[in-house]
Amino acid sequence: MSVAERYQVLFEPVKIGPVVTRNRFYQVPHCTGMGHALPQTLAAMRGIKAEGGWGVVCTEYCSLHPSSDDQPHPFASLWDEGDVRNLAGMTEQVHAHGSLAGVELWHGGSYVANLASRLPTIGVRSIPNPNEPVQCQRMDRRDIREFRRWHVAAAKRAKQAGFDIIYVYPTHGYLLSEFLSRSHNDRCDEYGGSLENRVRLIREVLCETREAVGDRCAVAVRFSADGHGEQHLSPAEAHDVVGLLGELPDLWDFVVGDYYGEEMATSRFVREGSLEERVRSIRRLTTKPVVSVGRFTSPDTMVRQVRSGVLDLIGAARPSIADPFLPTKIREGRLEEIRECIGCNVCYAYNFRGAAIRCTQNPTMGEEWRRGWHPERIERGAGGSVLIVGAGPSGLEAAHILGRRGFTVTLADASNQPGGRVTMESRLPGLSEWARVRDYRLTQIRSMTNVSLYLGNRLSAGEVNEFGADHVLVATGARWRRNGVGRWHAAPIASLPAEGVFTPDDLFAGARPGGRVMLFDDDHYYLGPVIAMMLAAQGAQVCYVTTGGVAGEWSHYTGEQYATHRQLLLQGIEVITSTAVDAFDGSSAVLGCIHSDRQRRQDADALVLVTSREPEDALYQSLVGQDEENGASAVQRIGDCRQPGLIAHAVHSGHKSARELGVSAPPACRRDRVET
Ligand code: ADP
Ligand code: SF4
Repeated sequence: MSVAERYQVLFEPVKIGPVVTRNRFYQVPHCTGMGHALPQTLAAMRGIKAEGGWGVVCTEYCSLHPSSDDQPHPFASLWDEGDVRNLAGMTEQVHAHGSLAGVELWHGGSYVANLASRLPTIGVRSIPNPNEPVQCQRMDRRDIREFRRWHVAAAKRAKQAGFDIIYVYPTHGYLLSEFLSRSHNDRCDEYGGSLENRVRLIREVLCETREAVGDRCAVAVRFSADGHGEQHLSPAEAHDVVGLLGELPDLWDFVVGDYYGEEMATSRFVREGSLEERVRSIRRLTTKPVVSVGRFTSPDTMVRQVRSGVLDLIGAARPSIADPFLPTKIREGRLEEIRECIGCNVCYAYNFRGAAIRCTQNPTMGEEWRRGWHPERIERGAGGSVLIVGAGPSGLEAAHILGRRGFTVTLADASNQPGGRVTMESRLPGLSEWARVRDYRLTQIRSMTNVSLYLGNRLSAGEVNEFGADHVLVATGARWRRNGVGRWHAAPIASLPAEGVFTPDDLFAGARPGGRVMLFDDDHYYLGPVIAMMLAAQGAQVCYVTTGGVAGEWSHYTGEQYATHRQLLLQGIEVITSTAVDAFDGSSAVLGCIHSDRQRRQDADALVLVTSREPEDALYQSLVGQDEENGASAVQRIGDCRQPGLIAHAVHSGHKSARELGVSAPPACRRDRVET
């Protein structure tokens, strides 16, 4: 069977109420950190998804009224004519490629704090906001009537903006799911009590939305297949809700109740297609088309989902971010060119940080309008030779892009294996998908005759000069510091012994401290917790100490912090927070409370320091020194050697340098804003 025949089913059109999608690839609503704040950036990014073959491209959560304002997170909005014009920019770009545009109308209820609009937040009862010291206003009947009116008005604006699919969104803890909640909904009127009553508002909104826009637009419901947790809506009740509403929507978009723990979980915790069984059991309750996600990147898995009747439409957020051209690559049989999502949630983290989306695998994500970067097209360069020293993520990405631009590229690495930090980290428990960063790029450059890879070659400045390339990119990475310097300790920890102190690089090289191991995490992301778990699994008695308030504090933004902390505790690892390791003598450590300065001593045979990294820039510095004297070829440093950071930073840095190499005036980075 040819590739085209094998995956043919994925390219069949599907009718969704009054509209038809050209294929089964459905980009479900996902956050972008752009929303109403960066409309042109957003429109271009969504347009690229449509160009890449996604039959349906949706917005992120789109506020239907100023009483649902999620500042500082950049949500989309459909409050007025200005929003209609902005979002029309997105629908035009999506339609230009023959795709349908969907909008996820959203009211946050008690979840939002309305920091911008300063309107009272509303909810089914007065409950505290999760982040702000404020409670919402309990909705009375008049508020319910108003809410229904707002929803209809927003649906009409959505239609005016050109959307083809309009969502009703009773899940993820927002306003409509508060009404479904057995615990939150304490009303004694027709909107509270029995499940029929708790569903009433959703049914009303659904019917009114259909009536208002259903002639031209499909109405979708995004709903949790297994309820919202026992105290709110049990799995059996969730099935009953679908039983009550089953045929009213034109499309069901099924998710699961545990957003961070499962639906949006990272690859450390959840594998591809994990929602399947729950979606399978609930989809029997409706004849309407069903879409759901599962971080699908394998076309065979997608085909199985369709053929076995679980899904009609292959939902994707992250796979469409990592590779906007995934559908086109499947259709054209270019499977080895698919840039598979690694499940790191860096995309999600930056929305949380209030910044435009970025992606570890796809450095063009978020840069489509701002820098004019296209994920698949790139201008050829003037030619010439480039030597890249270091085949970690930044060096590999630079080699890949320069190869595509037609340069003659030599990529050298001291190690016998390519991939740098990605190769090392992907051997740690739960991080195997990190290797996709290396493998995608290696596969691409191996098919290029103008890119050569030399492993086991540690280059000196003299050898680099002797090589005589027109351009040199130094991508030599960074090494973890052995002296404790980091966020907390500006100066090295005094008198650390030569024996018994380890860094992640020592562990990557095979060192395995045993006995009582203390791990000091001043880095606050995944590496400290993952190493602690690896050592514990290998029999060490691990004590995890962090200056953070919780384990892996920054992973709050990737949605993994809770699971990380829990996993450490369940594995029997002692977790000590808000504490620094101030001293270590080979048999005990001095721990200092970061709030009180109180110190205490705790026994430890070994200390693993995950604090900060020292750029490996000696080669760069000596080349630049010579460069300045001789006026020789251009030398640049990229990736962790320039600025230690996330893998995403290294890939972006390699990409940017490669895209701009030899370009005399790279286009200025545009700012998306209202100008008066
Ligand atoms: P980045 O994340 O910036 O890509 P990494 O630390 O992952 O950086 O990778 C850096 C790579 O550079 C490592 O694979 C390392 O072996 C290699 N390297 C470091 N110094 C040299 C050198 N002098 N010559 C060749 N390769 C080097
Ligand atoms: Fe996937 Fe990570 Fe990219 Fe998000 S940032 S799409 S999780 S690779």
